[in-house]
Amino acid sequence: MGLQLDTPVQYMKGVGPRLGSKMAKIGVRTIKDLICFFPRAYEDRRQLLRIRDLKEDMPAAIFVGTLVNIVERKVKGNLSLIEGLLRDQSGQIKLIWFNQPYLMKALKINQRLFIKGKIEWGHYHHAKQCQVLEYENISTEEQYKKHIGKIVPVYSLTEGLYQSQIRQLVSDAYKMNLHQQMKDALPTYIKEAHALVSLSTALEGVHFPQDASGCEQARKRLIFEEFFYYQLSLARRRILVKKNSIASPLSISGKLLDDYESSLPYALTNAQNTVIQEIKQDLSKSVSMNRLIQGDVGSGKTDVAIISLLIAVMNQKKGAIMAPTEILAEQHYCKLKARLSHLGICVLLIKSKLKKKEKEAVISQLKEARGLIVIGTHALVQGYVEINNLGVVIIDEQHRFGVNQRLALRKKGHSPHCLFMTATPIPRTFMLTCFGDLDKSIIDELPPGRIPPKTYFIRPKSFSRILSHLQSTLSEGQQIYVVYPLIEESEKLDLKSAMEGFEWFQNHFTDYKVGLIHGRLHPDEKSRIMTEFKDNKIQILVATTVIEVGIDVPNASLMIIQHVERFGLSQLHQLRGRIGRGKAAANCYLVGDPKTENANKRVHAMLETCDGFKLSEYDVLIRGPGDILGTRQSGLPDFAIADVMRDEKVLLSARKIAFKIVDEDQQLEQVPHQAMKQHLEKQVFFKTQQLN
Ligand code: ADP
Ligand code: MG
Repeated sequence: MGLQLDTPVQYMKGVGPRLGSKMAKIGVRTIKDLICFFPRAYEDRRQLLRIRDLKEDMPAAIFVGTLVNIVERKVKGNLSLIEGLLRDQSGQIKLIWFNQPYLMKALKINQRLFIKGKIEWGHYHHAKQCQVLEYENISTEEQYKKHIGKIVPVYSLTEGLYQSQIRQLVSDAYKMNLHQQMKDALPTYIKEAHALVSLSTALEGVHFPQDASGCEQARKRLIFEEFFYYQLSLARRRILVKKNSIASPLSISGKLLDDYESSLPYALTNAQNTVIQEIKQDLSKSVSMNRLIQGDVGSGKTDVAIISLLIAVMNQKKGAIMAPTEILAEQHYCKLKARLSHLGICVLLIKSKLKKKEKEAVISQLKEARGLIVIGTHALVQGYVEINNLGVVIIDEQHRFGVNQRLALRKKGHSPHCLFMTATPIPRTFMLTCFGDLDKSIIDELPPGRIPPKTYFIRPKSFSRILSHLQSTLSEGQQIYVVYPLIEESEKLDLKSAMEGFEWFQNHFTDYKVGLIHGRLHPDEKSRIMTEFKDNKIQILVATTVIEVGIDVPNASLMIIQHVERFGLSQLHQLRGRIGRGKAAANCYLVGDPKTENANKRVHAMLETCDGFKLSEYDVLIRGPGDILGTRQSGLPDFAIADVMRDEKVLLSARKIAFKIVDEDQQLEQVPHQAMKQHLEKQVFFKTQQLN
């Protein structure tokens, strides 16, 4: 006895180290974690099906009956198959368990069983049968009451962990009244205003719901609470940012800018110009810019970035771009040098593997006072890099960075103007939750004359049919990307197939130079290959997804994506965005054998549209909303019960009240807010100290 909220679960009755370590895998270490481990779904066992009414294709039917027969069959190899026959007043059905020979001892004829299982057609005996997913012995009155006639929680599991175990443990914790000890820190006036139940009622209702509405009430309270504390911390962060965001206003016109604009090879689009105006407005103020630019792949965000950086330089300040990959950083470096060197502007690149002398040279230039532009990956935010007099910071493909990296770069300067760029459309609720303190601009127009790539799907066995198309593309002087997936878990195999592809193309296109690029290469090697491709010294580039974002080689007009079924939709869109940037018509071949429904849907979506916004909507439909922006990418915390998309209404009301409270009581000192403040300080949403 003597169990407390912070007692490790492994000291609970019947747990021990082995079960304890399995629980740790699902994030449950202490009894408090257990109480806060909320069900992912519920199963309504108040009304059970009659056996006669079971229908084929029911994926998880629930019913009860009496076991009237049980036999074990040996099938191929060591597999074992247990077959039972379950009967109720309406009929009977065959039950099937795979590989659980111990059931022969555990189950007894005449036992009453609760069954949850998948109903299917048994071809062998020409009748319906049930593959058992879960069963309970309900022969005694007590067992019956425990499992039947109520709504039962369903928890997320890991291998070797059973629903019944977690249900038992949660119920044990409740019997000891441990949930009553959890402190309800939400002020009463908020609970009243939003009709929220108390914490202990909510905890009870979420694990042991009496009915649907009680469950709903319980969930609402807990969802509200999660959003509320997160929004409170956002609101307080916003105040900190504001306090720290006194910036030097920049002058936004000058000869340098005029010279640059007149040297541009094309006219900027209206959308680019509008966004540039918005940025100029921001830069001329004494509060630092904090703006997110959204624009589809290929909409010309780099041009907007360059102008912002030029303004910094024009004001004798430094400008920096942070890119998610070294290849992209390198590309920006080349582009900026080509565009800006003749104006006498110094452009520097920080790489992870700079030689000591080069590094020292760069570092010392960064300490100097004069205006210049520096480009790098996250190496830019590393401690040793000190950038004096930083005026404008650009974070390219910002969704690739975590919140903390973004904050760290900002901290480099005294409080520089910041511009975040992304091609990923961000749903409104994400905007509010993650980027609540950012202004927003949209580039909703592609440069003129762009024809969206034509997209085709082919099976690998028909690959030879496209060879003549590849030939003609090459003989017209254009270049080709061939992309292979590379996923960490199967890295070796993936690399092998990319290498085999490389050889295959070398053998089939002997008149052209084929290059291979992947993440394992030395950075210098990568950059040499990219430069050769850019200069058309390589015509066919076989690549893994290292080229996914940002890469810009307008002369490449054809892309082959191998194993298309293994890519996500946004990844495919990003990849395809590498072509269709030049004058020639672009073509994209999706090659693969999609087997799952979702993989097929992704291919169809790609064939149907090239519009990034539409594709992201499809993505929501196909994957479900929660998955779209991973936690790491969005900087969102892992909510235990709340879902940013599903619970939008609760989110908005929690946000409203949280921001109002912080407006009126910045330090959360008022009596009703004190408990809340203590609770807030125990949560780690992001490393706020980085702001100070
Ligand atoms: P993204 O928005 O994906 O970062 P980029 O900035 O890489 O797009 O631009 C894509 C291509 O379009 C580049 O080759 C760039 O030089 C070109 N480009 C950008 N703006 C224009 C424009 N206004 N007219 C014509 N081409 C443009
Ligand atoms: Mg870009």
